[in-house]
Amino acid sequence: MTNIDRTKPVLVTGATGFVAGWLVKKLLEEGFTVHAAVRNPDKKEKLQHLDKIAASSPGSIKYFKADLLTDGAYFEAMQDCELVFHTASPFFLDVKDPQKELIEPAVNGTKNVLESVNKTPSVKRVVLTSSCAAIYSDADECAQYPNGELTEEIWNTTATLDHQAYSLSKTLAEKKAWEMNKSQDRWELVVINPSFVLGPFLNPAETTSESFSIMKQMGDGTYKMGAPRMGIGVIDVRDLAEAHFRAGTLPEANGRNIISAHNTDFFEMSQKLIPKFGDKYPLPKKVAPKWLIWIVGPIVNKGFTRKMVSKNIGHVWKANNTKSVKELGMKYRPLEETMVDTFQVLVDNKII
Ligand code: NDP
Repeated sequence: MTNIDRTKPVLVTGATGFVAGWLVKKLLEEGFTVHAAVRNPDKKEKLQHLDKIAASSPGSIKYFKADLLTDGAYFEAMQDCELVFHTASPFFLDVKDPQKELIEPAVNGTKNVLESVNKTPSVKRVVLTSSCAAIYSDADECAQYPNGELTEEIWNTTATLDHQAYSLSKTLAEKKAWEMNKSQDRWELVVINPSFVLGPFLNPAETTSESFSIMKQMGDGTYKMGAPRMGIGVIDVRDLAEAHFRAGTLPEANGRNIISAHNTDFFEMSQKLIPKFGDKYPLPKKVAPKWLIWIVGPIVNKGFTRKMVSKNIGHVWKANNTKSVKELGMKYRPLEETMVDTFQVLVDNKII
C-alpha cells in the first residue's frame, strides 16, 4: 500500500509508443512532471504529439535518452521518481531473429530498468506493461480453464521461440520482473496485462505498434474477401491509460491485472465499422473460412503462421476482467466506439 507524492516526477519508459502516449497524456493532464525515456530524443517527429499535449497541460515533460539494451540507461531518468511505468518493449509479429529482436530487449530491458530501480531509493512502485500474452499463446487454450476464461492466476506455458515468440518475450519479461520484485522489499510491482490494444493513434505517421498494422489491414482491402473468426480480446488505449494511471496511484493496486474490455474476434470487430465506413472502404462483409486464411494468412503477415491459424481461428477467446473493475474501478467503453475512433484516425490521416 503505497501513496505516491504527486509533486515528484514520474518515469515512463518507451514514451514514444502507442500505449505510452496516452499514459503520458493522462499524467500531464493530472499535473505530473513526466520523465519520458526515449531511444532518440533528437528525432523530433516522434515527440511532436507529446510536446503539443504538454504545452496545453498543467504537467511538464522532460526527455531522457535510453535504450533497453544499454546497461544503466534508465538510471538518470528515474532519479527522484517514486513511480516508474515500464512500457518499452518491442511489439512485432513478423521477426527474423526472435531472440535478438524480441526476447533480449524485453527480458534484458526489464532487468536493466529494475536493476536501476534497485539502486534508486526514491522509487516506491513500478507499474509494468505486460500483456495477456504472458497468460496465453493461442485462443484454443481458453477452453481448458474453468468457465473457458483466462484469469490472472494463469501463466503462458506454450510460447516458444518458434511459436508466438512475442508472447514468450512478454512471459519471460514479466517473470523476471516478479523475481526481482520478490528479492527485495522496498518497491512494489503492479502488472498490467492488456489484451489487443486499439484506439486513436496520437502520432499515426510514426506508429510502429502491431496494433497499427493490423488495423490498417482491416481497411486497406486485405480482408475484403472476409475476416476470420479469430478469437481475441480488445482494450481501448484510452481505457488502458486510465488503468495504468490507477495502477500507479491507487494505494491498494496490486499483482497482475487483466485489462480487457471485450471478448471478441476479428470478424465481429470489423462489423462495427460497417455502418459508418462500409460504403467507402473495402471492409470485410462476411466471415473468411478457416481454410482460406490457412492458405493466405502467412502471405499477408509472416507472423501469421499456419499453426497460429489453426489454434486461433474458430476458437472463442475469453478473459475475466473482474479484478480490474473491482480493484481499479475500471469502466470500459463500447467496442464500436473503439473501432470507429481508431479507423477515423486512419481516414483523417489518409493512411487508408
Ligand atoms: P509501440 O511499438 O508503439 O511501443 C513500443 C515502445 O517500446 C516504443 O516506445 C519503442 O521505442 C520502445 N522500444 C522498443 N525497443 C526498444 C529498445 N531497444 N530500447 C528502448 N525502447 C524500445 O507498441 P505499443 O505501444 O503497442 O506497446 C507498448 C507496450 O504495451 C509493450 O510493452 C507491449 O508489449 C505492450 N502491449 C501492447 C499491446 C498492443 O496490442 N499494442 C497488447 C498488450 C501489451 P521507439 O519508438 O524508439 O521504437
